[in-house]
Amino acid sequence: MPKPSDPDLTNALTRTWDMGRSGRSSEALRDVRVLLEVAREAEDDTCVAQCLTQVGWFCLQLGHAEQGIDCAIAAKALWAQLGDTAREAHASAIYAWLLVELGLVDEGFAEASTAVSLAELADIPSILAFAINAKAVTLMYCRQDQLVGPLLERSLALVRDADDPWAESLYLCNLAFSQVSIAEAAENDGKVEEGRLWRERALATNDQAIAIAEACGCKWSLRTALCNGAEYYALLQREDVASAYLQRWDELTGEVGLREHIHYLYTRGELLTRTGRLAEALEFCERAVALAEASSHADHKANTIRRLSEVQEALGNTAEALALYKRFHIAYQRQMGEMIRRRAQLVEMQLETSKLRVQAAALEEQAGHDPLTGLPNRRSLDAAFKQLQGSRFCLAIADLDHFKAINDQYSHLVGDAVLQRVAGVLAGLGDYMRAFRLGGEEFALLFAGLDIQAASAVAEAVRGELERADLTDLAPRLRLTASIGVAASRGGPLMELMTVADRRLYRAKASGRNRVISTDLVEEVSLTG
Ligand code: GH3
Ligand code: MG
Ligand code: MG
Repeated sequence: MPKPSDPDLTNALTRTWDMGRSGRSSEALRDVRVLLEVAREAEDDTCVAQCLTQVGWFCLQLGHAEQGIDCAIAAKALWAQLGDTAREAHASAIYAWLLVELGLVDEGFAEASTAVSLAELADIPSILAFAINAKAVTLMYCRQDQLVGPLLERSLALVRDADDPWAESLYLCNLAFSQVSIAEAAENDGKVEEGRLWRERALATNDQAIAIAEACGCKWSLRTALCNGAEYYALLQREDVASAYLQRWDELTGEVGLREHIHYLYTRGELLTRTGRLAEALEFCERAVALAEASSHADHKANTIRRLSEVQEALGNTAEALALYKRFHIAYQRQMGEMIRRRAQLVEMQLETSKLRVQAAALEEQAGHDPLTGLPNRRSLDAAFKQLQGSRFCLAIADLDHFKAINDQYSHLVGDAVLQRVAGVLAGLGDYMRAFRLGGEEFALLFAGLDIQAASAVAEAVRGELERADLTDLAPRLRLTASIGVAASRGGPLMELMTVADRRLYRAKASGRNRVISTDLVEEVSLTG
């Protein structure tokens, strides 16, 4: 169990989180970096994990994905170590989104899927909604727009029940974006009417996002939705409305993050290009390019240059436009190279984290406990065996049946949860036996003072309990059985006793599984003497 957190630190972290939600992410990031040092100094793991999660998120909001990603990875690992699946899911979703911002879409999708599985296990609606949104964002980048809508609708349903306007405005903003993409795809297929309907739907969704963000004071979503709205109206040749949206953006107070600023500049530039104010458009687009150079947002860099080249072309400056197109091409190529470098960096970061995890597991192992199930481990079995030497006792080895199929069919995560359930059942029979995890899906049961008949009866009870265990909350139709081999100690070493139990277990498997065997066949008895 982690020690309780310092209440002052916890309150300070609630304040920075709220700051971020109201659009003051730069300030929040500065504060939370200081709090991170304090939490580390105090060895307050929960607060350290919270700080790391927040750094990851604020970096994303501000357009500094590269600076936030290692914090998100570390946060995820720390929450896992603390056994907080819900917050692990949250950190994992932020990590996934950061990956996408850096252009690592495949990795982002895989991570977002992990986030959703974790969130489903934790079963907290707001976190599940956030994880699903992250998955939707990754799909948006792969242009899988038809899949995005249903996911975001689910996120929205989850947060509406929880009354979370901050999240609602964010998901609506993303939903509108995907609806515009569907409209574009329909129009490209010549389906004009269908495209028009989707555009109308997108405008309504985006306006809803604006209204909610405005009411709850979430300036980050508000700025994004206003810029998007301007872009959507500009595409419909409604430059007047588009301009009014950007006017509202101008009137918002507070510090503007890099990501939001770039978005604004090129949207403004695009609108000015459309209305023929090319000299001004040039100025805005040049500023967007300069800022994008400082950002790690993969799309921004190439897109801003492309927009600038379009302005030059409209101005009739063909030579400049061509030079920029070349630069766009180089930026695009460089982005690919950059991606390879980032992938390599990422592998390194993950390796570092898993090394830490292995170290933590080794410490647990030394402490005699298995970190996943909390059961005593093989080392503890050795110690318990030594204590029982000279007295009457039995040992059983239980192995779950077709466990690999559970992993394959429902995921490793569900497999882990099943192992934890099994440990719960075994620990529940603690009056008659002690259970140990030998490794994988194998457990040893030690029956002190019992003869082989009594031990077999308890083993039979274990088998029955496992067969009856209701696991449908982990996955529908999930069933579990185990095979068990029991052996009585004859004063020999542990290995000898385990060999006999293992041999009987093997026979339990071979004769159909889901059974307890505590005797040998005649020929086996004669073999061992
Ligand atoms: P059998 O009935 O013959 O025992 O079939 P089985 O599939 O259970 O047997 P096998 O020993 O081939 O597979 C055991 C599987 O357990 C393989 C491995 O991936 C999985 N496993 C081992 N340790 C863990 C763990 O900590 N978590 C999860 N989720 N799976 C694990
Ligand atoms: Mg096995
Ligand atoms: Mg097995």
